[in-house]
Amino acid sequence: RRPCARRPCTRREAMTDGLTSLSNRKSFDEQIQKLSKECNEEGKIFTMLMMDIDHFKSFNDNYGHQVGDQVLRLVARTLTDGIKGKDMASRYGGEEFVIILPETNLDHGIMVAESLRKALANKEVINRSNGELLGRITMSVGVAQFYANESVEDLIERADAALYTAKHNGRNQVAAAPTPHERSLSKAK
Ligand code: GH3
Ligand code: MG
Ligand code: MG
Repeated sequence: RRPCARRPCTRREAMTDGLTSLSNRKSFDEQIQKLSKECNEEGKIFTMLMMDIDHFKSFNDNYGHQVGDQVLRLVARTLTDGIKGKDMASRYGGEEFVIILPETNLDHGIMVAESLRKALANKEVINRSNGELLGRITMSVGVAQFYANESVEDLIERADAALYTAKHNGRNQVAAAPTPHERSLSKAK
């Protein structure tokens, strides 16, 4: 099958986020489904990071949507600069990003998350239109390692629960996801 035979760029465009040039949500959904299937078949592991910019609404409200967009591009660049090889960064939604780390366990995923978090926190945001210093941007990160045969929905839900923990504990930090077992216990409560 040649999906882009007529117009070579169409599929790539459909898979790319226009603002940040990262993979978009649709592309992420395909990538993670494919990877989880491969991992189940071949006994491999991967880890995902779910990231959300801290207090982004007030940043937008204070400085405007254009500066907000500039911040989203800055975050995207920080993520792509901080990963390598088969790692994949995508824009998951508005100000939420995800990274898939193939062949990576939870502990290593936490290390990558921590280094990305620091890289972002160390950057100073400057308003392009007037050179004004706008201060720093931080993000919170939830980290979850894929468990064999769990659904992608469950994995994302665990990463999201970890992100919520990182937010709840004060933001600008990384939290590890509960195991599927711990997660089901906490939902039963
Ligand atoms: P928290 O620390 O809890 O994450 O707070 P927050 O303010 O980041 O979270 P909230 O979900 O309340 O706000 C997210 C904001 O992101 C709302 C919206 O104004 C902004 N946003 C979403 N998508 C875009 C976008 O494409 N461009 C810009 N400039 N802003 C966006
Ligand atoms: Mg959000
Ligand atoms: Mg946010």
